[in-house]
This record gives sequence, C-alpha cells and structure tokens, in this order.
Amino acid sequence: MKKMINFTVGPVQADLDILKIGAEQVPYFRTKEFSDLMFENEKLMKEFSNAPESAKVVFITGSGTASMEASIINTLTEKDKALVINGGSFGARFVEILKIHEIPYDEIRLEVGKALTKEELDKYNPKNYTAFIVNVHETSTGVHYDLDLIHDFCSKNNLFLIVDAISSFLADEIDIKKHNIDIMLTGSQKALACPPGISVMVLSKRAQKRIQEINPKCMYLNLRDALKNAERGQTPFTPAVGTLIQINARLKKIKKSGGAKTEIEKTKKLANYFRNKIKDLPFKLVSESPSNAVTSLYSLSASANDIFLILKDEYNIWVCPNGGDLKEKIFRVGHIGHLTIEDYDTLINALNDLKKRKVI
Ligand SMILES: *Cc1c(COP(=O)(O)O)cnc(C)c1O
Repeated sequence: MKKMINFTVGPVQADLDILKIGAEQVPYFRTKEFSDLMFENEKLMKEFSNAPESAKVVFITGSGTASMEASIINTLTEKDKALVINGGSFGARFVEILKIHEIPYDEIRLEVGKALTKEELDKYNPKNYTAFIVNVHETSTGVHYDLDLIHDFCSKNNLFLIVDAISSFLADEIDIKKHNIDIMLTGSQKALACPPGISVMVLSKRAQKRIQEINPKCMYLNLRDALKNAERGQTPFTPAVGTLIQINARLKKIKKSGGAKTEIEKTKKLANYFRNKIKDLPFKLVSESPSNAVTSLYSLSASANDIFLILKDEYNIWVCPNGGDLKEKIFRVGHIGHLTIEDYDTLINALNDLKKRKVI
C-alpha cells in the first residue's frame, strides 16, 4: 500500500517502537509474565484517568462498541431509567443499544455541533433517572461535552454515570474521581495509538457492585467473569494478546514522557496549530466546544467527501470523512496518534493547493 499520512480518528498512526512489537511472535498468555503486564496496564490506566484505588480495569477484546454494549448490559436493567446524550452517531449508538436491551431511557437530542447547556439539562429532573450516559467527545461532530455540568446533574440524585471517552482519553482531560464516573471507556485505536481490537473499561466500586448483581444475556461480554479473571491478571477468553503488549509499551512510554497531561498538551498544541493555519480557507468549525482530538469542519465551497477523496488519491493524505447526512458537508481532521507539526504543514499545503486549483 502507498505511504499515507493518517489524520483520521482511528485507527491512528502508531510510533515505530509500537509498530515493531506488532512484528514479533505472539506469546502464550496464561503465564505470570503476561498477568504482570496486565496488572501494569491496569495501574497505568487508573493513573492516567485519575481513578480511585478501588476501581478495577477490564480489557475487552472487541472494538469500542463492545465496551459500550458491555457497560449497558452488565450495569443497567429494565428497572433503571437512563438519560442519554444523543448529539451524533455515537450518541445514537448508545440509544440503539438501550433499545435492543429494553432499558428505559430518555434522550437529549442535540443539533450537530451544539454543546450541552445548563438550560437544556435543567429541562430534566434528575429524580426521574437512575443513570446518565454520554460520549464525552461525540467524535462524529467533534463536540466535547462539559463533565462539570453533567456531574452536577448526576450528583443531585446519585445517578450512575457512564462516560464513553473512547476518542477523548489522552486527548482531553478526564478525572474519574472529580466527576464520580462509574464507567469510563476507551479503545486501543484512538489516542492510545495502537492497532484496533481492544477496548478498556475502568469500573468504579458501584459499577462492580451492579455487575455482581446483574445477569446479562451474553456470555462473551459478561463482566463478572472478566472481573473474576482480572483478579489474577487474566481474561476469560483469548484476548488480542499482541495488542495488549503494544498497549503496555505505549502506556509506559507515556508515563516516561510525563504522563497523561503531557500527552494531552501535545494533542492540544497540534489542534491549535492546525486551527490557526486554516483561517483563510473556506471551512467553518462545526463544534462550538471542540475536543482536542479532532477538528470537525464544514466545507463551504466543495463537497466534503470530494475533499476526502482528492486528498487520499492525489496527496496521499487521509482525513476523516463523515457518513450519512453529513457526508457531503463535513470532514474531520484528527490530532491523535503519532503526528508532528511537519505532518500538519503537509496537510495545510495540500489544502492551500486545493484552493489554488479552485477545487475548494
Ligand atoms: C471510535 C469510537 C467508538 C467506538 O467505535 P469502534 O468502531 O467500535 O471502535 C465509540 N465511541 C466513540 C465516541 C468513538 O469515537
């Protein structure tokens, strides 16, 4: 395949040390050595999300959506009622999961690009709900929701809080203790910058308790089993062993270079650099509250999907197209993964060239 620069939001570019691990033999994993690696993964995941000592981490072999579904079926029942933010395709995915599993819910539908406001939230009474579900970064539109606001709302009735931080973890700050998050989700192919295949769940004490009490109608995603195995650093079934080893190397590397804060700063710097350089191009920011992970852009002059295709075919650059109704209107530029200022200069030059050619 051609050498491309990848500005999508996943799978993203991995650095060379991580790539090299992918070329090694996959080891047998029912060993003390692999358990120790898994314990280290758990410790660093907790550290980077500021989880309390009592939190437990589960690694699911499956993409992020597997953990979205696992979180719902293992902690909510028909006796619950969830309030879910639906501001794009990932919010809609939670709604679909709730529907399939017959969990009562109300959804707060937000227009493309709109942040969640206090006024909007004030229309709902926390006393009517037992759980709150949000994709803190709605990756389809680049909106990052305000967890202070959500935490305030939840604390009024002690709501169980599920936060999909799949594209936000290591790109935007997240603080499990501060916001009393019961389940935080992330995935290997976003800012963890590893191959796809693993999703990660950080579970509060309260989440662990619910998991012990609920019998999900699913064997593979049974978190009680996963927690039991995690006590010895193992998983119920064969995990994506190679990816877990890559995650271990990546987490240790982040730790060595200053931790999650440094990683977030790096991402923010790239995002700001790009956003400042495109001010004269015929684009408009979609999100009124952007995540550092992605810049979501309305194309004002050309089809957004054409821009995606031309950059791919003529410039060897992947930006991230949108699907559905937004396909012709919006494209996204990611800031997660192994990217440099020079990579952004290449992209900005290509976009300026498109302008010169009157493509945009
Ligand atoms: C990427 C992503 C997911 C998971 O998608 P998969 O394709 O299943 O990995 C879920 N939620 C958000 C917010 C995401 O960005």
